Amino acid sequence: MKAKPEKWYAVSVSVPPDHVEAVEFALNSLDSLGSEVEMFPQSGSALLTVTAYFSSLPDGSSVEAELRNAAHAYRLSPDLDFNVRHTVVEDQDWLAEWKKWWKPVEIGRFVIAAPWHSVEGDGHVIIRIEPNMAFGTGTHETTQLCLAAIDANYQSGQSMLDVGTGTGILAIAAAMTAGDGARIAAVDTDADAIAIARTNAELNAVGGRIEFSAGSLDAVKGRFDVVSANLTADVILPILADLIDRAAVKLILSGILVEQEEMVTSALPKPLSHTVTRAGEWVAIVVETGPGGSLHLARP
Ligand code: SAH
Repeated sequence: MKAKPEKWYAVSVSVPPDHVEAVEFALNSLDSLGSEVEMFPQSGSALLTVTAYFSSLPDGSSVEAELRNAAHAYRLSPDLDFNVRHTVVEDQDWLAEWKKWWKPVEIGRFVIAAPWHSVEGDGHVIIRIEPNMAFGTGTHETTQLCLAAIDANYQSGQSMLDVGTGTGILAIAAAMTAGDGARIAAVDTDADAIAIARTNAELNAVGGRIEFSAGSLDAVKGRFDVVSANLTADVILPILADLIDRAAVKLILSGILVEQEEMVTSALPKPLSHTVTRAGEWVAIVVETGPGGSLHLARP
């Protein structure tokens, strides 16, 4: 785990309310420690301010690039003025405040909680995630859709590969319900995320159960019963055929906006049946890659 920085760096972006989600998405992509949306805008202002906190000052051009990417993904006007401001925060109380409103989330048999939450077991699998510099604390719709898909589709004893593991949350969910022996692997192109995911796996006593590798699909060999990829549509599309090849039974895709659903489903080889679930602006697509779902296996 990284040492607590002495100072925080805040990046604030002011936009119309319907652009807030795109800005949060962009700032999360920049490894923010957390973000908050101003609840009570100054009277008369039509803009809301999203503030994200960082342990080191993010490079201005990467902030700008992520905001442009998010604007594109969310189909916002490319000419939008984001009013970006950088400030140094000496006071660390925001983290305590942020921790106060972060509540455990229940999805199917899983409960996602921070290490300090006291939660009742009640037959649930409790997954502890330290809010840190990786994506996947359980609060984002795409993570929730993937957890629900794992709850519904992943069975004990099956092998599982999580592509773009972030905090490790999806691989940890599988590892905690895998039983003995089933291979669980997780990759992320961000080496910092892999370090955080390892720490979270240890926190949940499944550190020894998950093979973590920095990189993408090529960093791990073999096929897995279930493959999850909560990436973005533009990252998924070029590797979709490889993801399908790697998934022996089911492929869980998310990070896809409602308006991108058609683009992704139309890129699936025709005989593969799939189901779509939605939450807010987001969809998850579960593709049946196994027997009954694929052309080559349907042949005699
Ligand atoms: N699985 C977590 C995190 C999803 S965020 C969850 O469901 O909440 C997406 C993650 O994918 C990020 O950590 C990012 O670093 C990683 N990523 C982006 N492109 C990738 C690629 N081509 N291969 C593997 N990981 C990738």
